Amino acid sequence: MLSVALVACSTSKKQPTLEDECLYSSQQTQFTFWSNAAEQMEVLIYNDANDANDEQTVALTKGENDFWQAAVKGDLAGKFYTVRSFQNGEWAPESPGIFAKAVSINGQRAAIIDLKTTNPEGWDSDVRPIMADPTDIVVYETHLRDFTMSPYSGVINKGKFLGLTEEKPLSYLKNLGITHLQILPMFDYGSIDETALENNRYNWGYDPVNYNVPEGGYSTNPADPAARIREAKQMIQALHANGIRVVMDVVYNHTFDAMGCALGRVVPQYFYRLNEDGTYANGSGCGNETASDHEMMRQFMVQSVCYWAREYHIDGFRFDLMGIHDQETMRQIRAALDKIDPTILTYGEGWAAMAPAYPYDSLAMKQWTYLMPRVGAFSDDIRNALIGSPFDHERGFASGNANGRSMAMIGLIGCPEWSGEPYQHVSYITCHDNYCLRDRIEVSAKKETEATKIRMNKLAQTAVLVSQGMPFLYGGEELFRTKQGIDNSYQSPDSINIIPWENKREYYDLFEYYKQMIAIRRAHKGFRLGTAALVKEHVGFLMTDNPQLIIYSIKDLEGIDTAKSLIVLLNGGAKLAEAEVDEGTYTVLAHDGQADVQGLGEIQGGKVVVEPYSATILAEK
Ligand code: CA
Repeated sequence: MLSVALVACSTSKKQPTLEDECLYSSQQTQFTFWSNAAEQMEVLIYNDANDANDEQTVALTKGENDFWQAAVKGDLAGKFYTVRSFQNGEWAPESPGIFAKAVSINGQRAAIIDLKTTNPEGWDSDVRPIMADPTDIVVYETHLRDFTMSPYSGVINKGKFLGLTEEKPLSYLKNLGITHLQILPMFDYGSIDETALENNRYNWGYDPVNYNVPEGGYSTNPADPAARIREAKQMIQALHANGIRVVMDVVYNHTFDAMGCALGRVVPQYFYRLNEDGTYANGSGCGNETASDHEMMRQFMVQSVCYWAREYHIDGFRFDLMGIHDQETMRQIRAALDKIDPTILTYGEGWAAMAPAYPYDSLAMKQWTYLMPRVGAFSDDIRNALIGSPFDHERGFASGNANGRSMAMIGLIGCPEWSGEPYQHVSYITCHDNYCLRDRIEVSAKKETEATKIRMNKLAQTAVLVSQGMPFLYGGEELFRTKQGIDNSYQSPDSINIIPWENKREYYDLFEYYKQMIAIRRAHKGFRLGTAALVKEHVGFLMTDNPQLIIYSIKDLEGIDTAKSLIVLLNGGAKLAEAEVDEGTYTVLAHDGQADVQGLGEIQGGKVVVEPYSATILAEK
């Protein structure tokens, strides 16, 4: 080791924080790390990502609040660094630090770069697309490879951030009419070897390594620390230019491993919850769970989302296993994002894989959603009611099981018991987890014809799109995707995970139905009243003796909607259903598996028939 001890010569005046790890200027680079356990800390500066020996070893000086700092003179752009701490009589292994903003291939070392040089042309004028109201949102979830790898995708930069800057995928999403694209993990994760991308391994990416750096596998050159940053920004910029906001899937609840990753190396154990016997608690089911209730883990999460929102213009965050985090952290994240832009979206999975080592009442579990204003939670209630639970192969309301009816009705109004406001209720039936919709209907209603299964598919998604909650669609359902019965495709090959663009011809009718239903939702404010009070005032269910029929009525909409009232009849049975509606002139927006925002025709009320496994939607003139 070429050890040249450089003296720490200046510290910044403002109170240091975790995100200040490496502050570059052409005159000096200032390093700041936090550890409450280290006896000594040092930064090792390397000329190259792969050099065996460091060029300089810089001792850090401990200041207030356990922050260790040093400033190194000169222009260090293009160099790499690691940090290590001395504790319990030995030096811990090097790591890139917990808040690296640029890294070498596979995230082994942090890179010193001038972030301004990663901004694509026009970045300063990039703005978030207008979002007047959170109830206007329609989220579409996809994985970068699912969306671009198919030979039918028309994408040149397959599996890359740049793939989503190309005209074909952008115009597809625009045409479908969604407002937010939720991308499966795009931060640096560990399961893909960035040096061997030609091996074409696939992974969802729920194994975080560097939280504040884009994944190298999605860049055209993972060895160039600037490329992944610039290309991620280009993708976001292109989506914004096409009116689409970008939601990042964030996985702060656990790390790839607890000992080997930066959080575990810089300060052993601090960032994790431990069992009473000193072993790592495992609420994530992945071997560890982080401790958002610890002050610096909380600060880390708050600063990390704010960093993505500011530096990358990210528009929303979907928190993986949010039930592992404590409620107070989620409230502080909300408050911090509000200072940047209150329209930034926050929602997550209000559950954990196993019981976290923290008091249940203080966790961000679904049932406490109302205690976290403007933080949403996925509704397994409406999901299970409509298509059945992932824990069995039963049918749901939309596939013929009348037992799902009452919970489906509660889901349509956004489960007010737990949701607070309806837009905190994420209405969905499928996502990357569990079966995709086609496969779910296949395992639970195997004997039905394909035509019937498509009717069930449309019916279930209709309920999602007319619900008062925030609708969420799993990408590719509109093209009748199948994952060949695989209900956990996290490392299945592309062939299982890719969206079948070629289906658009054969299943055009299904695609068109989704598109029209999205348009119908966006055209009618009655489906997205926005507050629990308005839902209570305007929404009701009409009586019927038919246990497989839901008659969902939204009335007195003068001044709110172009329609005076909206009536949605959902027939989850195999037989024709009948209902009486008040006399009046109604535009038929959907009927018998067809939907059209301009209307399929007109009726005068009275007796209405609803075809098997389908929705009839009426808008009163
Ligand atoms: Ca990686």
